Amino acid sequence: MARAWHLKSRPNGLPTADNFEFKDIQLPELADGMVHVRNRWLSVDPYMRGRMNDVKSYVPPFQIGEPLEGGAVGEVVESRDPNFAAGDMVLHMVGWRDEAVVPAAALNKLPQIPGVEPQAFLGNLGLTGGTAYWGLLDAAQAKAGDIVFVSAAAGAVGSAVVQIAKAKGMTVIGSAGGADKCQFVRDLGADAVIDYKSGTPLVKALAEAAPKGIDVYFDNVGGEHLDAALALARKDARFAICGMIDGYNSGEPTSLRYIMRVIAMRIMLKGFIYTDYLPRNGEFYGEMGPWVATGQVKGRDTVLEGLEKTPEAFLGLFTGANTGKMLVKL
Ligand code: NAP
Repeated sequence: MARAWHLKSRPNGLPTADNFEFKDIQLPELADGMVHVRNRWLSVDPYMRGRMNDVKSYVPPFQIGEPLEGGAVGEVVESRDPNFAAGDMVLHMVGWRDEAVVPAAALNKLPQIPGVEPQAFLGNLGLTGGTAYWGLLDAAQAKAGDIVFVSAAAGAVGSAVVQIAKAKGMTVIGSAGGADKCQFVRDLGADAVIDYKSGTPLVKALAEAAPKGIDVYFDNVGGEHLDAALALARKDARFAICGMIDGYNSGEPTSLRYIMRVIAMRIMLKGFIYTDYLPRNGEFYGEMGPWVATGQVKGRDTVLEGLEKTPEAFLGLFTGANTGKMLVKL
């Protein structure tokens, strides 16, 4: 018998523990082409909040009463597919549970790279690192010499953006909530940091941190952060619109005082989704793999232990409980 977290009800605003239910699930017989996996690491990600709403989006909504899903790294227990054997470490999307029977076609075998832990494939070598890489270098067309502003800079995507931008010769300003997170962002190599919880209006704080303005904004937050970036954007600035976590629970419309600067400054706003880039991920692994293996790009994980903690880990994303990647260890 396996155990999985299910969506009990759709959240209204910030989710609570009551929206989740922990239940036993019966694993199916291991048919040909199927692999039995025991999960070791579960990823929780802000995009999962959107899947809890009953709306059409780029991924289908979770269904009430059904197990939740998400990125996971597991170990093969038994395989009925010639490409996988017991002991293989695999990446897949059947998370929020301890065990699963997964079609072999939905598994990726993890390479063994000295100095690289398997859970890195949920972080800097996975969804969040790839999002940072493609958002910065393709969506925003960032290049050496650019002044880059990134919000949620102490988070999984943001901390990767800071380090990739530094590796590529850019000036980086990161914002994060609180002194400890700001120190973490500085230690990653950021040239300036903004504690957006300090009480200083963001436009003023960004004007001080970027007296010449910004060429690139990597948006993880939306709202006031996006507005401040619009206010400080230089001519032909490029914005990678990655996420808007500030609005995921409130449902309130975003009000942008400086949006009209898009015209005068010829600002490009480009939304993007990581999975669009999967066919090109060889380029991402080619650069990020050596950076991670040599420690040039570092990952910090915030780890909660035990499957029981999965909803708590997920909810922590919205209160800033994580520095770096939020993970659950089984
Ligand atoms: P994360 O940054 O590791 O965790 C979320 C962080 O957001 C929190 O630690 C918190 O940090 C900050 N935050 C939460 N609520 C906030 C608010 N109201 N205002 C300002 N900051 C807030 O999460 P992640 O996985 O790296 O994702 C970052 C963003 O990228 C999210 O918006 C996510 O949806 C997006 N994303 C997009 C794609 C894509 O394909 N487009 C893929 C992955 C992720 P503080 O303590 O600093 O507030």
